[in-house]
Amino acid sequence: MNRTTLDVAVIGAGVIGLSVAYELARAGARVVVLERHLPGAGQSTKTGGGVRLAHGSKMNVELTRMSLPVWEDFPTRFGVDPRYRETGHLFLAQSMQCSATLRDQADLLLNLDVPTNLLDGPGICERWKDLAQIQASTGLHCPVGGYLDHHTVIAGYQRALADMGGHLELGVRVEDVLIQDGRVEGVTTSTGPFPAKFVINAAGPEAGVIAGYAGLKVPFVSRRHELLIVRPTQPVPDILPWLIDTDRQVHLRPDGGGRALIGGFMGRDESTDPKLYTREYSADWARRVRSEVSKAFGLTEPDCEIVEGWAGLYPGTFDYLPVLEESLPGLITAAGFSGTGLMHAPAIGTIVADMVSGRTPDGIDISSLSSGRFSKPSSVAETSGF
Ligand SMILES: Cc1cc2nc3c(=O)[nH]c(=O)nc-3n(C[C@H](O)[C@H](O)[C@H](O)COP(=O)(O)OP(=O)(O)OC[C@H]3O[C@@H](n4cnc5c(N)ncnc54)[C@H](O)[C@@H]3O)c2cc1C
Repeated sequence: MNRTTLDVAVIGAGVIGLSVAYELARAGARVVVLERHLPGAGQSTKTGGGVRLAHGSKMNVELTRMSLPVWEDFPTRFGVDPRYRETGHLFLAQSMQCSATLRDQADLLLNLDVPTNLLDGPGICERWKDLAQIQASTGLHCPVGGYLDHHTVIAGYQRALADMGGHLELGVRVEDVLIQDGRVEGVTTSTGPFPAKFVINAAGPEAGVIAGYAGLKVPFVSRRHELLIVRPTQPVPDILPWLIDTDRQVHLRPDGGGRALIGGFMGRDESTDPKLYTREYSADWARRVRSEVSKAFGLTEPDCEIVEGWAGLYPGTFDYLPVLEESLPGLITAAGFSGTGLMHAPAIGTIVADMVSGRTPDGIDISSLSSGRFSKPSSVAETSGF
């Protein structure tokens, strides 16, 4: 492509980079996405496909709320159908501590006008007969949210970006950030420089490396998370919501055809060096998670068949909320989305396009997402991740 100064160079063709590039191209910017591998080859195709409105922080609720119309209307807007299925979410608690946390979360959600029902044990069993075996004493149900196919989302954004005249350069590794008189003026890559008026750091778990090229220290934290698709003896009914046991820290959702997607960090949520990441799930984790999921929901056996499994990285921060800011003049950071990057990608695309054009993002105050928050005692953290 012609490399005369671009309006915007986006680093990373994950769901965040593609959504940002699409919105910028749609607004008329001359934009390129620089990706070292293939679109979606990072974390954006390792997800459970989850979209939910029930979070533990106002910011995540607002970002989902901004994104939902795009998910509901994706086939019309992007010409491909990621089969968004609205199942809702049911958080479950047995211990007093987890029940209290769910009650606090319900208060927050009701204050934000999120449809939320707080249920007791008998109420849960009455509503979902298939959950007669669960031991939970408290349930928080939000009917808004579900899951979709992340591969189709990536394909849809990629196609729409091309339709808008945006460019995707594959097999290109960003190796440095060009800075002139305190302003970022592009990047250097394995195939030479890309001068640009704005650079967007959407490098997922590598966002800290890119920040380092610009002389910044942003404390991103990657955490390893794994998922399995299992086929139990008794089919898992499609009508069940996404189930999250907050005591055991495991979750399950129907995956169609009687299969279920299961996962959970079961108390182990430590940071991982992205360089050491491997895609294979661990056999020990698979044994433990099937056992805990079986005890939690009574829908699958501890030795149920594994159809497929994988490991990925939550590209996160210490408070599980993203960094969204102009880190230096000309350098916008949009990274650290933990377990919410897929569901929030439409909102992030719109917000970053506003930031590049100098507009205040409409309807949302993102000032609390600046990296400056890490130098102060933390006031807000997202605690409902799973
Ligand atoms: C097991 C698991 C389950 C999850 N489930 C959900 C879920 O249900 N819902 C949800 O919303 N989120 C979920 N997530 C989180 C979600 O995957 C991430 O938040 C999201 O994918 C982040 O997108 P991204 O575009 O920032 O990063 P990525 O998809 O990782 O994209 C970053 C891209 O940057 C490229 N890159 C990096 N460095 C360079 C460089 N120097 N030069 C060029 N290219 C570079 C990479 O190759 C990569 O393609 C899950 C994550 C995991 C691991």
